[in-house]
Amino acid sequence: MSKDVELNEADEKTFAYLKGHPKGVLQSDLWKDLDVDSRTCSRIIKKLEDAGLVTREETKKDGTRTFLITVVHTSEAVNPALFMAGQTIIPCVACMEECTVEHCKMLEDWIYELVFDEME
Ligand code: SF4
Repeated sequence: MSKDVELNEADEKTFAYLKGHPKGVLQSDLWKDLDVDSRTCSRIIKKLEDAGLVTREETKKDGTRTFLITVVHTSEAVNPALFMAGQTIIPCVACMEECTVEHCKMLEDWIYELVFDEME
């Protein structure tokens, strides 16, 4: 969970850039990509890390130590009621069939049940 850290424009820009690279960016490349000096980049990364927005994982590139910076993904809790049509749970939850969503009778039946349930 992210902590309450105030981000400035450079922090936001860096975070947005990192979000566009879900596999992460090496810190040794990041400061060049963002056209800032390496010390400024380190400060920004530290701030984002303190805010719980990114992780830093030590790695090596061409024998030199650097860090892989990756955005922390937060998943919001899903309301389990969304998987229910009345008392029937969506069939996909326990399905072992080869999936063909467009032609699935089980899913079609469940959707009808959902519609009838919402009409009641
Ligand atoms: S759509 Fe049908 S086949 Fe695909 S996972 Fe759901 S129940 Fe199974």
